Amino acid sequence: MSVKIAIEELAGCSGCTISVLDLHEALLDLVSEAEIVYSPVIMDAKEPPEGIDIAFVTGAVRNEENQERLNLLRKRSKILIAFGTCACYGGVSGLSMIGKQEDLFNYVYQGVESAAKDNIVPTDVPSFLYRAFAVGDLVKVDYYITGCPPKEQFLKTILPALVAGDKTVLSKKSVCSE
Ligand code: SF4
Repeated sequence: MSVKIAIEELAGCSGCTISVLDLHEALLDLVSEAEIVYSPVIMDAKEPPEGIDIAFVTGAVRNEENQERLNLLRKRSKILIAFGTCACYGGVSGLSMIGKQEDLFNYVYQGVESAAKDNIVPTDVPSFLYRAFAVGDLVKVDYYITGCPPKEQFLKTILPALVAGDKTVLSKKSVCSE
């Protein structure tokens, strides 16, 4: 039976998910042993199914929707991996704590050159939490893979091992403490 994999995207830039797709031919070997059952970037899936073997979480937790999705994924996954610097530490997403939601939205939707010319700031988006959280601040994390995004040559070693059931290649800590 193939290993069921999920890749969740919280507050991040999708670079971590793209780093998995960047494995090219190595990814084909991987999917012969595993099945990606949930990934908002790769497939049209509204929520993770039950019975996930390995869940990769990319991005930090910045708003209420991120938190709900993370909690659901944790419930439905045997192993949960914080994947990338935003998920492990907050990363670039954590920089959003330097301003209030209103100021950030005004800047993003009105203040930059690429903003839509209608100057409309959306009001129907989930509220920010009072701060950005790393994934491990809110749910149990089984393993950490750092990097912004994680390095391709590193993933080529650890992802096949992980799918084969070898967990010795992974770290249970987000930092080296010993
Ligand atoms: Fe993007 Fe880097 Fe965050 Fe991954 S860790 S989501 S590549 S900013």
